[in-house]
Amino acid sequence: MTTPTTRPGSNRLTTDPSILNSDSEPERPPLSTRVLSRRVDEVPRSGIRRFFDILATMTDVISLGVGEPDFDTPEQVIEAGRHSLASRRTHYASNYGTLELRRALAHHIERTYGVRYDPTEEVLITIGASEALDVAVRATIDPGDEVILHEPSYVSYRPAIIFAGGVPVGVPTTIDEDFALDPVKVEAAITPRTKAILLNYPCNPTGAVLPHEAQDEIARIAVRHDLLVYSDEIYDRLVYGGYQMRTMGSLPGMRRRTVLMGGFSKAYAMTGWRIGYICAPSEILEGILKVHQYVIMCAPTVAQDAALEALKTGEPDVARMVGQYDTRRRLVVDGFNAIGLRTFEPLGAFYAFPQITSTGLTSDQFAEALLEEESVAVVPGTAFGEAGEGHVRCCYATSEAELREALVRIERFVKRRRGNR
Ligand code: PLP
Repeated sequence: MTTPTTRPGSNRLTTDPSILNSDSEPERPPLSTRVLSRRVDEVPRSGIRRFFDILATMTDVISLGVGEPDFDTPEQVIEAGRHSLASRRTHYASNYGTLELRRALAHHIERTYGVRYDPTEEVLITIGASEALDVAVRATIDPGDEVILHEPSYVSYRPAIIFAGGVPVGVPTTIDEDFALDPVKVEAAITPRTKAILLNYPCNPTGAVLPHEAQDEIARIAVRHDLLVYSDEIYDRLVYGGYQMRTMGSLPGMRRRTVLMGGFSKAYAMTGWRIGYICAPSEILEGILKVHQYVIMCAPTVAQDAALEALKTGEPDVARMVGQYDTRRRLVVDGFNAIGLRTFEPLGAFYAFPQITSTGLTSDQFAEALLEEESVAVVPGTAFGEAGEGHVRCCYATSEAELREALVRIERFVKRRRGNR
């Protein structure tokens, strides 16, 4: 990376008036390093985006790449959105979000996890969990504060921490640990600058959940070291095999130090509506609200009305979709293992994370060659951090027929590769 020069004013586009008038500009560092902030310059382009740029030029591709439900939003939820528009609910909502949605959400969380949040001052409706992450981190991180996170992890975490001036400290997780965060490694990563731990279980990209013992121990560590915990639980409803999801704030000593982030995108198939939320103690939420208020103002009113309907009547839809994801999960996990791509059993989200090292290819090479040779899109594990090398992420939120065809193509590809070695 080229660092901007330290000469005062040298990061300006131009400082010398004679240059403004001259036709030929003198040699300077590239425009990006002079114009973009160091924080932005430091963050690489998303590895996923590069991939989708290639994909966009191809036809007949089976995509296991995008992390979103293949289902449409349930009909009654769409209808609620229509009704909201027809009722001219086209104005700003409260900065916190509509009180009806906050009440319903607080009730839902209490009923599901036994944790009570006051809907008037402890619940904030955001533009997806994406905004929740950004405003939560920006409201709580000072320059140089360290945030411990497990890796491979969701593509936005490192950038969000860096944009806020913080320092991400990755703790690798491996297939041999079923990608669960090891509390011993977490404690070893703590320094006097550690401010927070960022958790995402069920996890994107691995599909891992956190065993209860590990979760308990991480909570004890957070209490012992007085750390904040950001818990991105956007996949909380998508769990399988009898795993019992517990929200982080329900553990002893955790409610007061947990920033819960979630959203409607995954469980209710509402990615395009862009509704997420944060629940946190009022003292913390008040600060987060400041960032949200000045940057966003409020989440779209119509989409909040639709999300309210999802909470009220969407349970059967969630159960239907989770049932289908579960069937597909079995199909792909068994399929990959049968091909000889070692895949641990993911108990959450809708991703499988097969190990591809037996092909002799890196994650990037595997994903690129598979796309070119067999028109199947998967995401290289390295898009989620270095700890993802040796794996690719496959989203199984797509039809069974497509998954079966993808497995046939992947098997053909893997055999060919092994035959070439
Ligand atoms: N957090 C994780 C772990 C995700 O996987 C995603 C989306 O893929 C998000 C947050 C963002 O979700 P939203 O659509 O609510 O912004």
